[in-house]
Amino acid sequence: MTNYKCFKCGKQISNKTLEKRFVCPSCGGKVFYKTRKEITKVKAV
Ligand SMILES: [Zn+2]
Repeated sequence: MTNYKCFKCGKQISNKTLEKRFVCPSCGGKVFYKTRKEITKVKAV
């Protein structure tokens, strides 16, 4: 499941919430970035 984080207030919003309305429920911001539960590790070779 993809979660989004509000760029303005930093609140985590599920994609289901954004499916209905692409607006942050707490601050009304419209800029989000994707977050993931698993931390993607980048291997440094
Ligand atoms: Zn917000």
